Amino acid sequence: MVEALAVASGKGGTGKTTSTLALGMALATDYDVTVIDADTGMANLLFHAGLDDVETTLHDVLIEGGAAVREATYDRFGMRVVPCGTSLAAFEAADPERLRAAVADLASDTDVLLLDSPAALGSKSAVLPVVLADRVVVVLQPTIPALSDGLKVQEYATSYGTGTAGVVFNRVREDEPIERIADRAGEYFEGPTLAAVPESDAARGARRAGLPLLEHAPESDAARAFRDAARALDVRA
Ligand code: ADP
Ligand code: MG
Repeated sequence: MVEALAVASGKGGTGKTTSTLALGMALATDYDVTVIDADTGMANLLFHAGLDDVETTLHDVLIEGGAAVREATYDRFGMRVVPCGTSLAAFEAADPERLRAAVADLASDTDVLLLDSPAALGSKSAVLPVVLADRVVVVLQPTIPALSDGLKVQEYATSYGTGTAGVVFNRVREDEPIERIADRAGEYFEGPTLAAVPESDAARGARRAGLPLLEHAPESDAARAFRDAARALDVRA
């Protein structure tokens, strides 16, 4: 059985793409994992995974008469990775509804499907990845405004029948104890706090190197926190 997990947040830049690849690599030690960049308007997974020079991406799959999703799937870092392109014209030409078929196709042949999801609510392309997922992983910085945004993500996920797997707090500073963060989160969320990932040079360095964090710096504290989060996810594959 496949479990599809959307990695989402209220705002951009919280670490969704970093988290998607890190959780994917952590889960890939036990499961067959596929990662898809479903943030089709602001795609950037390709830059985090050294895939910025590939020919075929999800955008080519989402146009009429376009490529099969297999043609946009690349074996990387022990996972299957479906990057999306960055062209605005390609985003505008894409039919977001076609993501349904692409996800169904990928889900037929994997244990865990992670969907790197858009930040903003509202449009069909923004909501669909969460609609298609079984559960959502909410990625937030540990501030009250971020928690308020994250609560909205959880509310709309619930309204589409998508459960909450939990919250990954990212870019946590050393002076913020995890217990206090988890307490604060507990006031807002039903799901558990999966991990507190520290603000980390390793994460920044990974992006610059065009590599997932768990490939670039597997022994970093941030990588360890993502491995803990992956275990806490308790995937149902
Ligand atoms: P999103 O996909 O939500 O827009 P990204 O994963 O692309 O966010 O992260 C945004 C930026 O923040 C990237 O440059 C990334 O390297 C950096 N970043 C992510 N997580 C951390 C962290 N824990 N510590 C430091 N920098 C981070
Ligand atoms: Mg992103």
